[in-house]
Amino acid sequence: MTDTAEHDATGHDQTAQDPGGDDPVEAIGWSSARGGGWTLADPARRIDPIPSLHGTLHTDGPRVDRASRDLGRIVYARPSAVLVPGDISDIARMVAYCQRHDIPVTARGTGHAMHGQALVHRGLVIDMTALRTIHAIDPTDSGGRVDADAGTSWSHVVATAAKHRLAFPCLTGYLDLTVGGTLSVGGISAAYGQGAQIDHVVRVQVVTGRGEIKWCDAEHNSELGQAVLGGLGQYGIITRVVLDLVPMPQRVRTIRLLYTDPATAVAAMTTLVDRGEADEVFCMIFPPGPDTTPAYTVIVAAFGAPDDLPAPSRLLRGLPDPAAPVESEDSDYLHHATQYTGPINDAREHAGWDDMVKPWFDVFLADDDVAGVVSRVIAAMEPADWSPAGGGFVLLFPILRDTLTGPQLRLPDPDRHRTDGRPIVFLFDVLDAHPPTDDPAYAQIKVARNALWWRDIVEPAGGRRYPIGVLDFGYDDWRRHYGQRWTRVEQLRHRHDPSGILATGQAVFGHHY
Ligand SMILES: Cc1cc2nc3c(=O)[nH]c(=O)nc-3n(C[C@H](O)[C@H](O)[C@H](O)COP(=O)(O)OP(=O)(O)OC[C@H]3O[C@@H](n4cnc5c(N)ncnc54)[C@H](O)[C@@H]3O)c2cc1C
Repeated sequence: MTDTAEHDATGHDQTAQDPGGDDPVEAIGWSSARGGGWTLADPARRIDPIPSLHGTLHTDGPRVDRASRDLGRIVYARPSAVLVPGDISDIARMVAYCQRHDIPVTARGTGHAMHGQALVHRGLVIDMTALRTIHAIDPTDSGGRVDADAGTSWSHVVATAAKHRLAFPCLTGYLDLTVGGTLSVGGISAAYGQGAQIDHVVRVQVVTGRGEIKWCDAEHNSELGQAVLGGLGQYGIITRVVLDLVPMPQRVRTIRLLYTDPATAVAAMTTLVDRGEADEVFCMIFPPGPDTTPAYTVIVAAFGAPDDLPAPSRLLRGLPDPAAPVESEDSDYLHHATQYTGPINDAREHAGWDDMVKPWFDVFLADDDVAGVVSRVIAAMEPADWSPAGGGFVLLFPILRDTLTGPQLRLPDPDRHRTDGRPIVFLFDVLDAHPPTDDPAYAQIKVARNALWWRDIVEPAGGRRYPIGVLDFGYDDWRRHYGQRWTRVEQLRHRHDPSGILATGQAVFGHHY
């Protein structure tokens, strides 16, 4: 068994080389003895050497340390190796190798999922951020297209597209996430009429669990393409994508409306979504004071030319009266798109946000009783759940259901919608952050809290989990999650990943970390 740090392109253990490099070096391979681990390849012991690589494989050191945790700081699992791929063929070769030897493999973007979704105990983590090239940005009749590696950050996509006066139509609030990481979950934004990010993928390149490289689009491998978008990494690794872009808005008018109860805030958002005149709508919920209820700030954005932005009075006509004067400000588009990324990165760098415990609770709700469900969860929140030390958010995003077309993104029960308008799905997020504690029970109390909110409030209301946060799901929960699609999901897994090695941290098919 090696305890070495880095293996070069031939799979050689660099730390085993002498400085002159004359001594023979031995490749490593996987031994299934004692639960599995890397060892010196030895034909006599039938140890199959790893394929030659253009990148590097790390079996110890800071990369493995980093890959042992995610941003939730709730669960930890140490992989036995981290692959820093030199190119996509490295990913394909190592996945094929792992499929042969039944080694769990997880693609890791920025590791910002909160509950071990990108962790794997003893297996292989692939650091997708090593491949982050934007290959091309091309104009089209309706805007443009960007061709980018899956490890590219959204910040990079936004900045590069902006140079061509182009923009991606639905961006996450925080942009330092990988394209592959958000496409593997869905990617929800405040652009309520634009579906999810996965609805804007033209082509996707996938390394299947068998190690095959496949391009997927509407004509080729379409079912595999649909499976990986929102597929939680279960059928293949997204390695490269072509995404639709739209002309970059020139200016953005942002309007804030304060309400003091969820029903009124939801009514205002519903009217705005039904009218379709604004481009983005969402709600930030702020904690109650000693004598006040929580504050529901509805944030509305409209895009346009500087002299063509809608007047607030026109945009907001007929909405319920807010509890405070309406605030309105104009900005350029890039400021608007990046406005939350800078402050979050500041909190990461200067306020210890990364090390805080983040038991995020993220669920989709149908429109018939969204205000009721939100108020029940909020009534159950304790003061600490409002993140008094900072770094927390409570959010509600409306999205028109018929714009969400990916079959893997699971939405609330369809019979839970209003019948007098286009159905709206709401993403409700309690994104709380708690200062680090030595008490291991603390995080578990929050995990149990989420399980209760799910069992007692959200599931009975026909809600669905958005699997970026913290919720322990067993086999039956996942079956219910996928509903009638479950059999298809199992077939796809079996077809593309027969040994079931991919993204076991999601625990969809029973493994964990
Ligand atoms: C501050 C913050 C703000 C956020 N805001 C939003 C938001 O507005 N809207 C929203 O929808 N989400 C939001 N998220 C959630 C985020 O989209 C998901 O957690 C996303 O999966 C994180 O991307 P990542 O690169 O960190 O993925 P990781 O955490 O590294 O991976 C998450 C899962 O995806 C799999 N995966 C990663 N890359 C690939 C790939 N290339 N191919 C296949 N599977 C892969 C992993 O195996 C793992 O199972 C936010 C998260 C944070 C931390």
